[in-house]
Amino acid sequence: MAEKYAVGVDIGGTTVKLAIIKETGDIIEKWEIKTNLEDNGASIPGDIWKSVSRKLETHGLRSSELLGIGAGAPGFVDKSTGDVAVAVNIGWKDFALADKLEQLSGLPAVVDNDANIAALGENWLGAGNQAENLIAVTIGTGVGGGIIANGKVISGVNGTAGEIGHITVETDGAPCNCGRNGCLETVASATGIVRQANQSVESGHKTVLTTLFEKNGKISAKDVFESAAAGDRISSRIIERVTDVLGLAIANAATVVNPSKIVIGGGVSDAGEQLLIPLRKAFDKYALPRISDGAEFVKAKLGNDAGVIGAAYLVKQNGKA
Ligand SMILES: [Zn+2]
Repeated sequence: MAEKYAVGVDIGGTTVKLAIIKETGDIIEKWEIKTNLEDNGASIPGDIWKSVSRKLETHGLRSSELLGIGAGAPGFVDKSTGDVAVAVNIGWKDFALADKLEQLSGLPAVVDNDANIAALGENWLGAGNQAENLIAVTIGTGVGGGIIANGKVISGVNGTAGEIGHITVETDGAPCNCGRNGCLETVASATGIVRQANQSVESGHKTVLTTLFEKNGKISAKDVFESAAAGDRISSRIIERVTDVLGLAIANAATVVNPSKIVIGGGVSDAGEQLLIPLRKAFDKYALPRISDGAEFVKAKLGNDAGVIGAAYLVKQNGKA
């Protein structure tokens, strides 16, 4: 049988990442284009297909050699229709992404949210190592979550399953983008870490963060990790709080899923062991011993490629040949 290919697309608020990937997982080419946010992102599907067509030509591939297009969008996705219900950063509302891609390309298209495709990507070619049960947590500006149970990414009735970042961890906590208060990502994202650092500075605590703030006009999550490593007590306390809350939320999610792998990715995970060691400790404190025994924490391996790889896997898994 002739080799088939899939197109993986990972749509973000700034760039759209794309890749042509063999069924075996070999990446033929990956590239990115700018996300055109004009007119509420109306031109994005057309931009995607135009760019893909050009690359197919370059590689001498016909669209009949493609299994389909998989795409991830930053928002809530109805997987059964491939519609994006809401993607705030793009401006999409009830946007029929899968239909539009199918009409443009004449190929089957499947759509899921960006955190789910990242989880699938890590599980196919990255740190997940094709686990049957896995929790992926992406800690960046927000906290994204993707859950694989019994070999499938779970979406739920309207595409909202696995939203670990919106588990409530403080019933009267800071406001979240989702309109509620005290979600995990208000504490454990880069944004949450910076918020806590700013609070400490404002309330006049003695910390090196104040000096950094005065020097740079702002504090980054990286500053907090570096200051903690250098012995700053306030920064250490913030990291302790972050890893404790994160460990608690992941332990609760793990009680539902009983995963063999917990994959931690995103910009904040660059802190490496400084994050992972206390996180594992907090997790062990809150999880059932049998859940802890079965679960291995691993750092995500694919970085920014996880999305396009997972989107291509979505095509392969759906077998829409
Ligand atoms: Zn929230």
